[in-house]
Amino acid sequence: MTDIDGNAVAADIRSGVAECVETLQAEGVDPALATVLMSDDPASETYVSMKQNDCEEVGIDGIHVDVDDDAPAEELYDTIDELNADDGVHGILVQLPVPDHVDTERVLRSIDPAKDVDGFHPENVGRLVGGNARFKPCTPHGIQRLLAAADVDPEGKEAVVVGRSDIVGKPIANLLFGRGPGGNATTTVCHSRTDDLASHTRRADIVVAAAGIPEFITADMVSEGTTVIDVGINRVERDGESTLVGDVDYEAVSEKAGAITPVPGGVGPMTRAMLLYNTVKAAAEQHDVDVDLP
Ligand code: NDP
Repeated sequence: MTDIDGNAVAADIRSGVAECVETLQAEGVDPALATVLMSDDPASETYVSMKQNDCEEVGIDGIHVDVDDDAPAEELYDTIDELNADDGVHGILVQLPVPDHVDTERVLRSIDPAKDVDGFHPENVGRLVGGNARFKPCTPHGIQRLLAAADVDPEGKEAVVVGRSDIVGKPIANLLFGRGPGGNATTTVCHSRTDDLASHTRRADIVVAAAGIPEFITADMVSEGTTVIDVGINRVERDGESTLVGDVDYEAVSEKAGAITPVPGGVGPMTRAMLLYNTVKAAAEQHDVDVDLP
């Protein structure tokens, strides 16, 4: 069984991104990512500060804007407009979720598609579905890179995605069945209304678990040699302590899997690395600079 080391693959991508930053800087471009937070949720605050630290590590300028969570929605929309108009900002990420009085769809639509490094703008979603992605969303792109790093070519294989969210399930399914490298799998998307989920996962060569349910995929649900990608991040109480587990029962499933991603240290670090990748890609495209993307 191969443990797919997301930390190692992400470190390689970060070092490639750092080289792109140097190329851009030599051309007078300082790549910059703006993060916008309209929430006092500690988890969201942590995610944003991790993204800012990641930027610093590879030489990307991190700009952070806090919007009061009880401010009028217009304040967030105006902030996005200002960042869109700022030539010194190449990528914009609004940390989700936003408060209930803010229209999430409008937020996603407001970000300039050329700066939409999350890849959630409808134009970018459409391009992904059309097989001509500008920015692949970070988590699905990270999964594709993990499969490549583990020498698992999806072409011709049966891939089963558990979960159909807009940020993980749908885009990874599109990448897996899409044409080109890292695609060409015969792909099934399962969800909460799927009948007999295990009958699908058992015939899969590749299982992507993104249901958000702790240790949901058990050993009896996978076949010998299956590649298992665990996207889940679930905080649970174990022996009186809070700990992180994935959507896969790692202990038992790793006995059967051909390759598996751990939690933490699998998909999570890749999501963060691919955001940096999308930011330098955005900067390079906006300034017409050739960079050697990792
Ligand atoms: P969502 O809650 O948006 O989607 C969950 C999906 O799982 C839904 O499509 C739902 O189906 C499906 N589902 C729920 N119950 C079942 C079931 N019993 N059988 C089959 N499918 C089921 O979650 P996300 O996609 O946003 O995230 C999934 C997990 O991945 C979470 O743990 C999240 O924290 C984690 N995550 C990790 C990231 C990383 O970088 N590692 C990044 C993003 C997310 P239905 O549509 O019918 O409701």
